[in-house]
Amino acid sequence: MSESKIPYKIYLSEEEMPTSWYNMRADMTNKPAPLLNPGTGEPLKAEELAPIFCEELVQQELDEETPYTPIPQEILDFYRMYRPSPLVRAYCLEEKLQTPAKIYYKFEGNNTSGSHKLNSAIAQAYYAKKQGLRGVTTETGAGQWGTALSMACSYFDLDCKVYMVKVSYEQKPFRREVMRTYGASVVPSPSDTTEVGRQILAEHPGTTGSLGCAISEAVEVATSNEGYRYVLGSVLNQVLLHQSIIGLETKAALDKYGIRPDMIIGCAGGGSNLGGLIAPFMGEKLRGEADYQIIAVEPASCPSFTRGIYAYDFCDTGMICPLAKMYTLGHDFIPSANHAGGLRFHGMSTTLSQLYHDGLMEARAIEQTSVFEAATTFARVEGILPAPESSHAIKVAIDEALKCKETGEEKTIVFGLTGTGYFDLTAYEQFNNGTMNDYIPTDEELEASFAKLPKVGE
Ligand SMILES: *Cc1c(COP(=O)(O)O)cnc(C)c1O
Repeated sequence: MSESKIPYKIYLSEEEMPTSWYNMRADMTNKPAPLLNPGTGEPLKAEELAPIFCEELVQQELDEETPYTPIPQEILDFYRMYRPSPLVRAYCLEEKLQTPAKIYYKFEGNNTSGSHKLNSAIAQAYYAKKQGLRGVTTETGAGQWGTALSMACSYFDLDCKVYMVKVSYEQKPFRREVMRTYGASVVPSPSDTTEVGRQILAEHPGTTGSLGCAISEAVEVATSNEGYRYVLGSVLNQVLLHQSIIGLETKAALDKYGIRPDMIIGCAGGGSNLGGLIAPFMGEKLRGEADYQIIAVEPASCPSFTRGIYAYDFCDTGMICPLAKMYTLGHDFIPSANHAGGLRFHGMSTTLSQLYHDGLMEARAIEQTSVFEAATTFARVEGILPAPESSHAIKVAIDEALKCKETGEEKTIVFGLTGTGYFDLTAYEQFNNGTMNDYIPTDEELEASFAKLPKVGE
């Protein structure tokens, strides 16, 4: 197909939309290490997970064999409200960079929650409803996940209780109001509504909370209330499975025009959007059918892949969640307060960790001022104000396109544009005012955090 025939936006028709999710683990020879029970050190069984998570989601979490899971019709119906998401040929960015590279991005910000998180929120709410539950609980930091989940719960008429880190609850009221508009109850954490919250408040009066503490509260409420379960918006295998819709659509759109990417780039917090974007491409790579360069991009202030170690660790600061073998900075690691670009999680999806460990993908760490520079360049030519998280991927896509300019190579680059930045304007303000600075943790800081890793599997 000649160059001029490739449209600015490649859409799929309803008939062309994927109808199954794809599970990369089915094609992995080295499977990710199992989740362990923190008490016994033994692999977690379905019955141990069932009091916390929905039954069908537990099955998806533990299933390493089934490559394709049909997407239930109710979920497909919801997906149709905002999917397929466009695959955009970044002609304007290419022009601006004067690069021979061909750049495409998959834009997931076209829904009210403003990010890809809705793809899994709707699936998790559906399975909770199907099980006859009354509601779900979760934690949220800045609020993207809580927003997506409240939209999904209102659609299926489920109660949604969101524990929002107190400092965000007070400083970032806008996402909170979106959640309340969709009917969720949003509680600043720590709160006096839970045992663990009251304990933390007694020990640390006036604390502004943390994600770990909010998780502890959400899990307590889910396990102590009849008809409730806890849901999580990243890291878990079930979330990567649901997010595979991103990659499957991307691949279908590229295939339609006979385009084969050389490079796929995505930002990595807990790994869900990246795991979803690369899924079908990694599948081909694992089966030896094709090869792609795959790059995870993380903040230099929270560099799990590039400076973390591959070990069992708690998924949460509160040490109540299962142990997962992953690239981690230690469950105690908290990125510097001046880090404004998101992607703050200390660990990484177990599946992506294994793939990285086996050399099937690479990773780069980027400092936040250069992330916001890339965000600004992109916004000015492509029109979309990107989320700071997404801008990590933009930065590396631009770097790679500029390398092509040096070498004259016409590489095809695909990156994930996970969301919009309308609720992140405080971070943009810091950047625009020139008050944003870069912080890179020292080796000593990381060593101190590694020293607190649980002693398992050694
Ligand atoms: C949550 C979020 C991310 C990071 O989460 P992953 O699980 O690593 O995908 C990236 N971009 C946006 C816009 C987000 O809201």
